[in-house]
Amino acid sequence: MKIIITIAILFVSLVLQAQNTFTYKTKNAEIILLSEGQRVNNLNNLIGATEEIIASAAPDKTYPGATNAFLIKTEGKNILADTGVGRELFKNLEHSGVTPEQIDAIILTHLHGDHIGGLVASDKAMFPNAKLYLSNEEYKSAGESAKKILSYYSHNMTLFEPGDDKPAKLYGNIKSMKSYGHTPGHTVFFIDDLIIWGDLTHAMAIQMPYPKVAITYDTNPEEAVKTRLKLLEYIVSKNLTAAGMHIPYPGIGTLKADGKGGYVFTPVK
Ligand SMILES: [Zn+2]
Repeated sequence: MKIIITIAILFVSLVLQAQNTFTYKTKNAEIILLSEGQRVNNLNNLIGATEEIIASAAPDKTYPGATNAFLIKTEGKNILADTGVGRELFKNLEHSGVTPEQIDAIILTHLHGDHIGGLVASDKAMFPNAKLYLSNEEYKSAGESAKKILSYYSHNMTLFEPGDDKPAKLYGNIKSMKSYGHTPGHTVFFIDDLIIWGDLTHAMAIQMPYPKVAITYDTNPEEAVKTRLKLLEYIVSKNLTAAGMHIPYPGIGTLKADGKGGYVFTPVK
């Protein structure tokens, strides 16, 4: 019996580990999912999810969610896109063969706690050699607790202006573009034919077929919807692959328009 339980625990932990990281290759980079976890969410925080929408996209009144960061290995550099909540992050990094000291840069989509949670612990910067990149607008909107966290990186922080309607050069072969709405300075990043879209969506099962549905975490839900519609169209027109901070495992996939104003997301394998 004991052996069976041990094997069962081993199996479960292997499955969990497998759900935590995933590697996707672009022309010049490896993009590695660093997942803080998968979960099932209820519909309480959605804005504009009508009964028809719920009946077709979430009949059991739940949707799968996740919290992710990504490690980008490119041109000999290790770049973190967001830092999750800082729970599984360090284990996942270790699993990917990278120490926190080896992170060269951190690019932040925005300043919510589930994106900057890994930056600081025990009163110290967890990535002592990393340059931190954050949009001007997002920095301006920072609250007290985010400012405190950023202060640990102030000697190594670059504030930048993302591209308006097309990606602008940021760091190495990484580019950035404005995607304001979820937060005042929310930013998306590009590398090769991949976009890292941060919190462009929270509820994939609902916001792909119905991208006009917003979420109460949006600072400006109306602007967030406009940005989502604009970017989803852009992604399809450029045939980009998308990685997102709340896309369930593996956190990366491709999009196509469904012809009804929505989109179909297909996870990469
Ligand atoms: Zn988030």
